[in-house]
Amino acid sequence: MNQLNDQNPNPIFSLLGNAVSQCPSYDKKVNYLLESRKIFLFNQVLQQKIQNFKDQNSSLEQQLIQPQKKQRRKANEISKIYKCSQCEKSYGSEASLNLHSKLKHPIIESESKTYIEQSFQI
Ligand SMILES: [Zn+2]
Repeated sequence: MNQLNDQNPNPIFSLLGNAVSQCPSYDKKVNYLLESRKIFLFNQVLQQKIQNFKDQNSSLEQQLIQPQKKQRRKANEISKIYKCSQCEKSYGSEASLNLHSKLKHPIIESESKTYIEQSFQI
């Protein structure tokens, strides 16, 4: 057995051996169940702390990798100078107004045809 350990020195085995050799002899005054429970709870607290650090670390890494998104202006901060001619809505850009017009006031095909015909007559 010893020969095998010498051939394949395993750091875990040597640590375990050290722990066993350093183990104090049984003490009647010590409540070993209570001590083991204390250690178990202490371990859980430590694991939770490690997890918190990991989460914190990954969120910090993400902030480093992804630069802050461009801050969008809030709706009330945009000056709405583009007013719809057909309703009371107004928008901050011509593109937004055009999109609104397309969606809310679509030109009926027959109307647009007559409009084009009229413009050609002039
Ligand atoms: Zn409108």
